[in-house]
Amino acid sequence: MANYETVIGLEVHSELLTSTKIFCGCSTSFGDEPNSNVCPICLGMPGTLPVLNNRALELAAKAGLSLNCEIADFSKFDRKNYFYPDLPKAYQISQFDLPIAKNGYLDVTVNGEKKRIRINRIHMEEDAGKLVHSERGGGSLVDFNRTGVPLIEIVTEPDIGSPEEAKAFLEGLKAILQYTDVSDCKMEEGSLRCDANVSLRPVGSTEFGTKTEVKNMNSFRAVERALNYEVERQAEALEDGEEIIQETRRWDEDRGITISMRSKEEAHDYRYFPDPDLVPVVMKEEQIEKVRQEIPELPNDKKERFIKDFNLSEYDASVITADKSLAEFFDECVKTYDEPKKIANWIMGEISRVLNEDQIGIEDTNISPERLTELLKLEDEGTISNKIAKEVFEDMYQNDKSPKQIVEEKGLVQISDTSELEGIIDQVISENPSAVEDYRGGKKKAMGFLVGQVMKKTKGKANPQKVNELLQEKLEN
Ligand SMILES: [Zn+2]
Repeated sequence: MANYETVIGLEVHSELLTSTKIFCGCSTSFGDEPNSNVCPICLGMPGTLPVLNNRALELAAKAGLSLNCEIADFSKFDRKNYFYPDLPKAYQISQFDLPIAKNGYLDVTVNGEKKRIRINRIHMEEDAGKLVHSERGGGSLVDFNRTGVPLIEIVTEPDIGSPEEAKAFLEGLKAILQYTDVSDCKMEEGSLRCDANVSLRPVGSTEFGTKTEVKNMNSFRAVERALNYEVERQAEALEDGEEIIQETRRWDEDRGITISMRSKEEAHDYRYFPDPDLVPVVMKEEQIEKVRQEIPELPNDKKERFIKDFNLSEYDASVITADKSLAEFFDECVKTYDEPKKIANWIMGEISRVLNEDQIGIEDTNISPERLTELLKLEDEGTISNKIAKEVFEDMYQNDKSPKQIVEEKGLVQISDTSELEGIIDQVISENPSAVEDYRGGKKKAMGFLVGQVMKKTKGKANPQKVNELLQEKLEN
């Protein structure tokens, strides 16, 4: 491996967060009844005409601007021709030679080193349908709900030097697309998909080696594993003097290997040509400007700010800003609580733990910035210990209650102060002469009643052991 240098380029498909499809008014909602979100346009009926969804165009431009691309004031749609049962028109509307955005970049940090990954282009296209293979052996069925859902394809230059860098790029890209509301990037719902071109070359060589294309990677972890495997496989083949075949390979998650799908000779000729049904896309400067205004503070900028303003470590800042909701949560907390490091520790610790366990985002929980800071303040005031704070957090996460409410309901603040307790005990003794007499007369059970009265007066917050001690002392004398 020491003799070779890894060269990776990525092609990432991302579904745009529009409510309707790219060329018709059908809903893009996920998980609906099969073939319920379809119409003659997305089913490719003869005589229908597609019309570009303006929001899809703006979101594609927003992705381009956020990734430092030039936005084309003139681009067009082309037909990519191929036969497949999930493609009713027998062509996919895509962009070929004039994409909406090009020449961008994204900076990633791997092992503390910053690296710029150039982006060759971003183009718009429509999604295809989905084949559902019948379990009862009745062949395959097609669901056209995804047909015509707007996508962008982001193509990088072959600047990625390792599987680790590929993963870092995808994480950075995902964060940007989520921050800008361009895509929800749910890999499990297919709204972010990734293919990779992989080749090796002798260290120092400027010529590229023969590449393979790896498909079917369904998580960031799968991407890293698949690329590690493929790099290793190519290195071994080259060591053995074998030639790398230019081909498409499928990642098999269960077996942990890539498998040949088709070679270059079998590759499609898509016979691209301009779609005569769609007018060219002209984006005026003011529309591009409007989109630019919609772009919020981006993850890398936020990360730098967290490091600079709040003294967070590079690592903590990276983890927190990788997730839009967590970053916003942190920003909210520091407005009312001035120990950012402590907030970061809670986010990196307890909060991340429960979110990972339940595979949800912080926005879907009972934990709000107000509640976390309230909890931290209770701890700072000495009302509760750090151990109790974790217990209260767990309760707050499970149940929709504020820390104060939990602490009160569970009687978690203990009154251990002797003089404070003595005052209350004196009161209870003078108010309950008969119980006191009973106790002094030998009925030791009366003790329980008196302790109960003290607990009642303190709403359960008195330290019971201390109450027992003090009461006994007073009654014996
Ligand atoms: Zn439709």
